[in-house]
Amino acid sequence: MLASSENKVIFVGLSGVGKTSIINKKQRGDFNIYQEATIGAAYTTMNIEIDSDTEVSIGVWDTAGQERYDSLTPLYFRNCRVAVVVFDLSSRDSFDKAELWLKVINDKYSGYLEGYVLVGSKCDKVNNRKVSVDEAHTLAEKYGTHYYEASAKTGECIDDIFRQVALIIFNAPPVFKEVNSIDRKTFGSTKTGRENCYGYYSCC
Ligand code: GDP
Ligand code: MG
Repeated sequence: MLASSENKVIFVGLSGVGKTSIINKKQRGDFNIYQEATIGAAYTTMNIEIDSDTEVSIGVWDTAGQERYDSLTPLYFRNCRVAVVVFDLSSRDSFDKAELWLKVINDKYSGYLEGYVLVGSKCDKVNNRKVSVDEAHTLAEKYGTHYYEASAKTGECIDDIFRQVALIIFNAPPVFKEVNSIDRKTFGSTKTGRENCYGYYSCC
């Protein structure tokens, strides 16, 4: 198994949009309506399955206290491979901030990253929707990101978000590949062991 810390993924977005809830739902399968605010940046590792015999090991940074779009420094994006930008579908302000996030990341940090994913969260709150699908798609297209409408409460699209993150990493060259002892392929990038690298992959 290769170090997941090599496949760093950062979650950003306005406080309260549901970043921690999305990560918790994926990792533990539960949802807490009284989810407490994250103190400092939280880090967790996961193995994400792409197909029945392929998985990508990722390290997820859940930002907190740095949730202003202009507060992140290059430090947060160093060695980061994918940024997940989250907004709350029931908060117009969080969508506007997501646009600023994407602009800042694209202008300043795209050199660090292999891709972004845009997430409209809390899609279960259908009667409180403040952002249309079309608007979100337009924003996603502008920055060349994938867009998902998800709910940590119902679980909708949570797996799809992480699968897309894993696919971005998997498809980005150079990719280090290794077959582990149970013949299950686990992917990660590493600065050592290049002699075991047997392929470069692109998205098409
Ligand atoms: P963060 O600050 O971005 O990490 O947001 P949290 O994960 O702490 O969530 C903020 C609040 O939104 C909490 O009260 C959660 O219970 C709630 N929340 C998060 N995700 C959802 C969701 O998908 N649906 C609903 N209805 N509430 C959610
Ligand atoms: Mg949080």
